[in-house]
Amino acid sequence: MKSALTYLVLPALCLTLTACPPKKSEVHSDPQFRTVVMGDPMMVVKGAQFNRLTNLSYFSNVQSVELFSIVQFVQKASANLSQPVSQETLQKSEAPRETVASGPKTIHFEVSLLKDTFEDKSYQLKNDKLTIVLSNKGDALKGVTSTATIFRNGTEETAEVLHFSQSEDVKKMSILLHTEGKHDQQGESLIALYFAKNAKLVSPPVITPKLEINSYVKFNYLLGPNAKLPWAPYGPIVLNICGADAEGFRSQIKSAVDKWNTGLNSLQKINLFSAKKYFPFSDLSQHCVYYVESFIVNPDPRLAMYGLTFAVPDLENSNILDSDVFLFDGEFQKAARWNSAEVMVEKLKFAIVHELGHFLGLDHQFDPAIPSIMGYDFRIGLDLTAYDLAAIRTLYQQ
Ligand SMILES: [Zn+2]
Repeated sequence: MKSALTYLVLPALCLTLTACPPKKSEVHSDPQFRTVVMGDPMMVVKGAQFNRLTNLSYFSNVQSVELFSIVQFVQKASANLSQPVSQETLQKSEAPRETVASGPKTIHFEVSLLKDTFEDKSYQLKNDKLTIVLSNKGDALKGVTSTATIFRNGTEETAEVLHFSQSEDVKKMSILLHTEGKHDQQGESLIALYFAKNAKLVSPPVITPKLEINSYVKFNYLLGPNAKLPWAPYGPIVLNICGADAEGFRSQIKSAVDKWNTGLNSLQKINLFSAKKYFPFSDLSQHCVYYVESFIVNPDPRLAMYGLTFAVPDLENSNILDSDVFLFDGEFQKAARWNSAEVMVEKLKFAIVHELGHFLGLDHQFDPAIPSIMGYDFRIGLDLTAYDLAAIRTLYQQ
């Protein structure tokens, strides 16, 4: 899925506390977000309920759709795992980056009904580089399986459809695919594709901070400086703790939510729940904190990437459509080998407050003159700084 899908818009944010990678934050909105994990990428969706039956009627009466985001968790082929990967190599091979200053970029697909019989309903999504065929096969009464077949560069790959979801306005949909990944020396992959139909996608409005109120000329938001992309203003944001492993950190998550809620000063609010049943990250209607037993393949084996929050923008309404927070157990364990238990406790708490800042729409703030929870220095403590408060309040000010 690599070569053909490099024109998407997706803010992807990670938190690395033991060392800072080169200033990735200055390049916003990785067109596609790809995390390389050690071991089985299915660990990322462990315990989640799947809705495997794709609602193919989403594509009926539609001639074209836009693929506007893609998120992948890819297993590096085991032979490569022991090889330290240089920063340069990783950036070139794993992380193609570009800015999104010119506005939202999408991949356009022509949609056609390929087959429509009682036992086989298929739609083809096609452009000049990539073809995706989505099929529901089998008797609806006896059980239907959904599959995806991907054609690119002359190769064909079959994927299992793990989960399907639609936005409330039914204009956006996501499908989560699982592939065995025989290509490019990569192992299994989880690939979440986000489509929009009949949607006019635009860049979010760029605001001008009011300098008479605060002294900041720019706020770093998910899609760029001063580019306003908050959660929709209708009601509180519902965040779920998803899974028993994440539940183990309820008090830390609750305390981080309280911090941001206080900082938001009633402009918006996160309501925290515990989800007994939960869906994988690709689900558009549920937003989760997951605690995942995975190691991330980092450019430097001494780096620990404790958390990861990506947001899927609703560029029709200039809002965040979906966002989910991951905390990686393997990364905490890795860092625990060279940090004291006390330091790890502080790092964990800091990581959760930091990730929730991403969840709400803030990007990194690495300016050494501007202390922020959105930087990587956990030694500044857990309180939101003057910048954090100004940035979040400006983001949610109507
Ligand atoms: Zn971060």
